[in-house]
Amino acid sequence: MNFHILTLFPDMVMNGLETSIIGRAKAKGLLSIEAVNIRDYAFNKHHSVDDYPYGGGAGMLMQAEPVYLAYQAVEEKINTRRCENSAEQEEQPTGSMKREQKKLRVVYLSPQGDTFSQKMAEDLAKEEDLVLLCGHYEGIDERVLEEIVTDYVSIGDYVLTGGELPAMVMIDAISRLVPGVLHNDVSAEFESFQDNLLEYPQYSRPEVWHGKQVPPVLLSGHHKNIEAWRREQSILRTKERRPDLLEKAVLTKKEQEFLEKLSEE
Ligand code: SAM
Repeated sequence: MNFHILTLFPDMVMNGLETSIIGRAKAKGLLSIEAVNIRDYAFNKHHSVDDYPYGGGAGMLMQAEPVYLAYQAVEEKINTRRCENSAEQEEQPTGSMKREQKKLRVVYLSPQGDTFSQKMAEDLAKEEDLVLLCGHYEGIDERVLEEIVTDYVSIGDYVLTGGELPAMVMIDAISRLVPGVLHNDVSAEFESFQDNLLEYPQYSRPEVWHGKQVPPVLLSGHHKNIEAWRREQSILRTKERRPDLLEKAVLTKKEQEFLEKLSEE
Protein backbone atom coordinates (compact mmCIF):
# COMPACT_ATOMS: atom_id res chain seq x y z
CA MET A 1 0.00 0.00 0.00
CA ASN A 2 1.25 3.49 -0.84
CA PHE A 3 0.66 6.50 1.39
CA HIS A 4 1.19 10.01 0.00
CA ILE A 5 1.16 12.78 2.60
CA LEU A 6 0.71 16.39 1.54
CA THR A 7 2.18 18.47 4.35
CA LEU A 8 4.17 21.55 5.31
CA PHE A 9 6.23 19.41 7.72
CA PRO A 10 7.49 16.31 5.89
CA ASP A 11 10.21 15.57 8.47
CA MET A 12 7.65 15.33 11.25
CA VAL A 13 5.67 12.56 9.57
CA MET A 14 8.60 10.72 8.03
CA ASN A 15 10.58 10.61 11.29
CA GLY A 16 7.52 9.44 13.18
CA LEU A 17 6.93 6.52 10.82
CA GLU A 18 10.48 5.17 10.68
CA THR A 19 10.53 2.85 13.68
CA SER A 20 9.11 -0.48 14.86
CA ILE A 21 6.46 -2.34 12.85
CA ILE A 22 5.77 0.42 10.31
CA GLY A 23 9.49 1.03 9.73
CA ARG A 24 10.08 -2.70 9.16
CA ALA A 25 7.11 -2.97 6.80
CA LYS A 26 8.53 -0.08 4.79
CA ALA A 27 11.94 -1.73 4.66
CA LYS A 28 10.31 -4.95 3.41
CA GLY A 29 8.49 -3.04 0.67
CA LEU A 30 5.01 -3.85 2.03
CA LEU A 31 4.32 -0.15 2.47
CA SER A 32 5.62 2.99 0.88
CA ILE A 33 5.24 6.34 2.60
CA GLU A 34 6.17 9.58 0.86
CA ALA A 35 5.74 13.07 2.17
CA VAL A 36 5.31 15.87 -0.35
CA ASN A 37 6.22 19.33 0.88
CA ILE A 38 3.43 21.70 -0.13
CA ARG A 39 5.88 24.58 0.27
CA ASP A 40 7.79 23.27 -2.77
CA TYR A 41 4.74 24.26 -4.83
CA ALA A 42 4.50 27.83 -3.52
CA PHE A 43 4.34 30.20 -6.46
CA ASN A 44 5.95 33.26 -4.86
CA LYS A 45 9.60 33.97 -4.24
CA HIS A 46 9.29 33.74 -0.44
CA HIS A 47 7.78 30.25 -0.66
CA SER A 48 4.93 31.33 1.57
CA VAL A 49 1.81 29.19 1.45
CA ASP A 50 -0.54 31.06 3.78
CA ASP A 51 -2.50 34.28 3.62
CA TYR A 52 -5.16 36.22 5.54
CA PRO A 53 -8.72 34.94 5.33
CA TYR A 54 -11.19 37.08 3.40
CA GLY A 55 -13.70 38.69 5.75
CA GLY A 56 -11.17 38.90 8.57
CA GLY A 57 -10.80 36.66 11.57
CA ALA A 58 -7.94 35.22 13.55
CA GLY A 59 -5.03 33.36 12.01
CA MET A 60 -3.84 32.49 8.53
CA LEU A 61 -5.15 30.11 5.92
CA MET A 62 -3.27 27.77 3.59
CA GLN A 63 -3.79 28.96 0.02
CA ALA A 64 -5.49 26.83 -2.62
CA GLU A 65 -2.90 26.85 -5.41
CA PRO A 66 0.17 25.30 -3.68
CA VAL A 67 -2.07 22.55 -2.25
CA TYR A 68 -3.56 21.92 -5.69
CA LEU A 69 -0.18 21.79 -7.43
CA ALA A 70 1.22 19.40 -4.81
CA TYR A 71 -1.84 17.18 -5.23
CA GLN A 72 -1.52 17.23 -9.03
CA ALA A 73 2.12 16.15 -8.80
CA VAL A 74 1.15 13.17 -6.64
CA GLU A 75 -1.84 12.27 -8.82
CA GLU A 76 0.29 12.35 -11.96
CA LYS A 77 2.92 10.10 -10.36
CA ILE A 78 0.28 7.59 -9.26
CA ASN A 79 -1.44 7.57 -12.66
CA THR A 80 1.87 7.03 -14.46
CA ARG A 81 2.69 4.08 -12.21
CA ARG A 82 -0.79 2.60 -12.59
CA CYS A 83 -0.61 2.94 -16.41
CA GLU A 84 2.81 1.28 -16.48
CA ASN A 85 1.52 -1.58 -14.31
CA SER A 86 -1.57 -2.19 -16.46
CA ALA A 87 0.54 -1.99 -19.65
CA GLU A 88 2.80 -4.68 -18.19
CA GLN A 89 -0.23 -6.82 -17.39
CA GLU A 90 -1.65 -6.43 -20.89
CA GLU A 91 1.58 -7.71 -22.39
CA GLN A 92 1.16 -11.00 -20.60
CA PRO A 93 0.01 -13.60 -23.17
CA THR A 94 -2.89 -15.38 -21.46
CA GLY A 95 -5.28 -14.77 -18.60
CA SER A 96 -4.31 -11.12 -18.38
CA MET A 97 -7.00 -8.66 -17.38
CA LYS A 98 -7.12 -4.95 -17.88
CA ARG A 99 -7.19 -3.49 -14.39
CA GLU A 100 -9.85 -0.91 -13.74
CA GLN A 101 -8.44 2.42 -12.55
CA LYS A 102 -9.91 3.06 -9.11
CA LYS A 103 -10.80 6.58 -8.05
CA LEU A 104 -8.03 8.02 -5.93
CA ARG A 105 -9.09 8.56 -2.29
CA VAL A 106 -7.91 11.89 -0.89
CA VAL A 107 -8.43 12.33 2.85
CA TYR A 108 -8.41 15.79 4.40
CA LEU A 109 -7.58 15.51 8.10
CA SER A 110 -10.01 17.87 9.77
CA PRO A 111 -11.75 18.20 13.15
CA GLN A 112 -14.92 18.64 11.08
CA GLY A 113 -14.67 15.18 9.46
CA ASP A 114 -16.17 11.78 10.27
CA THR A 115 -14.52 10.29 13.35
CA PHE A 116 -11.82 7.78 12.44
CA SER A 117 -12.68 4.21 13.40
CA GLN A 118 -11.44 0.64 12.99
CA LYS A 119 -14.11 0.13 10.33
CA MET A 120 -12.81 3.12 8.39
CA ALA A 121 -9.26 1.76 8.71
CA GLU A 122 -10.44 -1.59 7.29
CA ASP A 123 -12.11 0.16 4.37
CA LEU A 124 -9.10 2.35 3.57
CA ALA A 125 -6.65 -0.57 3.88
CA LYS A 126 -8.17 -1.94 0.64
CA GLU A 127 -6.82 1.02 -1.34
CA GLU A 128 -3.60 0.74 -3.32
CA ASP A 129 -2.87 4.45 -2.87
CA LEU A 130 -4.10 6.88 -0.24
CA VAL A 131 -3.46 10.62 -0.25
CA LEU A 132 -3.56 12.35 3.16
CA LEU A 133 -3.81 16.13 3.16
CA CYS A 134 -2.62 17.85 6.34
CA GLY A 135 -3.86 21.33 7.11
CA HIS A 136 -2.12 23.85 9.34
CA TYR A 137 -2.85 27.32 10.76
CA GLU A 138 -6.62 27.88 10.49
CA GLY A 139 -6.98 25.27 7.76
CA ILE A 140 -7.11 25.35 3.95
CA ASP A 141 -8.96 27.48 1.39
CA GLU A 142 -12.32 25.75 0.90
CA ARG A 143 -12.18 25.85 -2.91
CA VAL A 144 -9.30 23.42 -3.26
CA LEU A 145 -10.89 21.06 -0.74
CA GLU A 146 -14.04 21.01 -2.90
CA GLU A 147 -11.96 20.03 -5.94
CA ILE A 148 -9.70 17.28 -4.60
CA VAL A 149 -10.97 15.83 -1.30
CA THR A 150 -13.03 12.61 -1.28
CA ASP A 151 -13.10 11.97 2.53
CA TYR A 152 -13.02 14.28 5.57
CA VAL A 153 -11.64 12.51 8.63
CA SER A 154 -11.22 13.65 12.25
CA ILE A 155 -9.33 11.71 14.91
CA GLY A 156 -11.50 13.10 17.71
CA ASP A 157 -13.41 16.06 19.01
CA TYR A 158 -10.47 18.30 19.81
CA VAL A 159 -8.42 20.75 17.75
CA LEU A 160 -4.75 20.13 16.99
CA THR A 161 -2.27 22.53 15.41
CA GLY A 162 -1.93 20.45 12.25
CA GLY A 163 -3.01 17.33 10.37
CA GLU A 164 0.37 15.59 10.69
CA LEU A 165 -0.33 13.68 13.92
CA PRO A 166 -3.79 12.61 12.68
CA ALA A 167 -2.20 11.41 9.39
CA MET A 168 0.31 9.35 11.39
CA VAL A 169 -2.47 7.88 13.52
CA MET A 170 -4.36 6.85 10.39
CA ILE A 171 -1.30 5.40 8.66
CA ASP A 172 -0.43 3.36 11.75
CA ALA A 173 -3.95 1.93 12.11
CA ILE A 174 -4.36 1.20 8.39
CA SER A 175 -0.88 -0.26 7.89
CA ARG A 176 -1.28 -2.97 10.51
CA LEU A 177 -4.24 -4.29 8.47
CA VAL A 178 -2.14 -4.62 5.30
CA PRO A 179 -1.31 -8.33 4.80
CA GLY A 180 2.17 -9.21 6.01
CA VAL A 181 2.72 -6.09 8.12
CA LEU A 182 2.01 -7.88 11.40
CA HIS A 183 3.92 -11.10 12.05
CA ASN A 184 0.72 -12.95 12.47
CA ASP A 185 -2.24 -11.77 10.38
CA VAL A 186 -4.55 -13.34 12.95
CA SER A 187 -3.46 -10.79 15.54
CA ALA A 188 -5.16 -8.02 13.56
CA GLU A 189 -8.30 -10.09 13.19
CA PHE A 190 -9.30 -10.67 16.82
CA GLU A 191 -8.85 -7.29 18.33
CA SER A 192 -10.87 -4.60 19.97
CA PHE A 193 -13.74 -3.30 17.82
CA GLN A 194 -13.98 -6.56 15.88
CA ASP A 195 -17.70 -7.40 15.91
CA ASN A 196 -18.18 -4.26 18.05
CA LEU A 197 -16.62 -5.95 21.08
CA LEU A 198 -13.50 -4.97 23.01
CA GLU A 199 -10.72 -7.52 23.31
CA TYR A 200 -10.66 -9.89 26.30
CA PRO A 201 -7.92 -9.49 29.00
CA GLN A 202 -4.60 -11.19 28.24
CA TYR A 203 -1.84 -12.66 30.43
CA SER A 204 1.75 -13.81 29.96
CA ARG A 205 4.35 -15.46 32.22
CA PRO A 206 4.68 -15.82 35.20
CA GLU A 207 1.53 -17.70 36.22
CA VAL A 208 1.39 -15.76 39.51
CA TRP A 209 2.41 -12.09 39.72
CA HIS A 210 1.92 -9.92 42.82
CA GLY A 211 -0.25 -12.73 44.16
CA LYS A 212 -2.54 -12.54 41.09
CA GLN A 213 -3.15 -15.88 39.37
CA VAL A 214 -3.69 -16.25 35.61
CA PRO A 215 -7.30 -17.46 35.05
CA PRO A 216 -7.04 -21.28 35.25
CA VAL A 217 -9.00 -21.86 32.02
CA LEU A 218 -6.14 -20.29 30.05
CA LEU A 219 -3.76 -22.96 31.41
CA SER A 220 -6.17 -25.82 30.65
CA GLY A 221 -5.17 -26.32 27.03
CA HIS A 222 -8.88 -26.78 26.24
CA HIS A 223 -9.28 -24.56 23.18
CA LYS A 224 -13.07 -24.56 23.06
CA ASN A 225 -13.35 -23.53 26.73
CA ILE A 226 -10.69 -20.86 26.23
CA GLU A 227 -12.59 -19.44 23.24
CA ALA A 228 -15.86 -19.40 25.23
CA TRP A 229 -14.16 -17.71 28.21
CA ARG A 230 -12.58 -15.07 25.98
CA ARG A 231 -15.86 -14.31 24.27
CA GLU A 232 -17.61 -13.88 27.63
CA GLN A 233 -14.81 -11.64 28.88
CA SER A 234 -15.11 -9.52 25.71
CA ILE A 235 -18.83 -9.06 26.32
CA LEU A 236 -18.26 -8.28 30.00
CA ARG A 237 -15.50 -5.77 29.26
CA THR A 238 -17.49 -4.07 26.51
CA LYS A 239 -20.49 -3.77 28.83
CA GLU A 240 -18.31 -2.15 31.51
CA ARG A 241 -16.19 0.13 29.31
CA ARG A 242 -18.08 0.77 26.06
CA PRO A 243 -21.75 -0.13 26.47
CA ASP A 244 -22.53 1.96 23.36
CA LEU A 245 -20.72 -0.62 21.21
CA LEU A 246 -22.77 -3.53 22.52
CA GLU A 247 -25.90 -2.20 20.83
CA LYS A 248 -24.35 -3.04 17.45
CA ALA A 249 -22.65 -6.31 18.46
CA VAL A 250 -23.93 -9.52 16.88
CA LEU A 251 -24.39 -12.03 19.72
CA THR A 252 -25.60 -15.62 19.76
CA LYS A 253 -28.71 -16.50 21.79
CA LYS A 254 -26.50 -17.91 24.55
CA GLU A 255 -24.41 -14.75 24.61
CA GLN A 256 -27.54 -12.60 24.76
CA GLU A 257 -28.63 -14.59 27.81
CA PHE A 258 -25.18 -14.11 29.38
CA LEU A 259 -25.49 -10.37 28.81
CA GLU A 260 -28.98 -10.26 30.30
CA LYS A 261 -27.71 -12.13 33.36
CA LEU A 262 -24.90 -9.58 33.72
CA SER A 263 -27.40 -6.73 33.57
CA GLU A 264 -29.49 -8.32 36.32
CA GLU A 265 -26.48 -8.64 38.67
N1 SAM B 1 -10.07 26.20 11.97
C1 SAM B 1 -10.26 24.80 11.88
C2 SAM B 1 -11.63 24.42 12.44
O1 SAM B 1 -12.09 25.06 13.37
O2 SAM B 1 -12.22 23.45 11.94
C3 SAM B 1 -9.19 24.05 12.67
C4 SAM B 1 -7.85 24.17 12.05
S1 SAM B 1 -6.61 23.28 12.94
C5 SAM B 1 -5.98 24.51 14.01
C6 SAM B 1 -5.34 23.09 11.76
C7 SAM B 1 -5.33 21.77 11.04
O3 SAM B 1 -5.11 20.73 11.97
C8 SAM B 1 -6.58 21.37 10.30
O4 SAM B 1 -6.63 21.95 9.02
C9 SAM B 1 -6.48 19.87 10.26
O5 SAM B 1 -5.74 19.43 9.14
C10 SAM B 1 -5.72 19.54 11.54
N2 SAM B 1 -6.55 19.04 12.65
C11 SAM B 1 -6.79 19.67 13.82
N3 SAM B 1 -7.54 18.93 14.64
C12 SAM B 1 -7.79 17.78 14.00
C13 SAM B 1 -8.54 16.60 14.33
N4 SAM B 1 -9.18 16.47 15.49
N5 SAM B 1 -8.57 15.60 13.42
C14 SAM B 1 -7.95 15.72 12.23
N6 SAM B 1 -7.23 16.80 11.86
C15 SAM B 1 -7.15 17.83 12.72
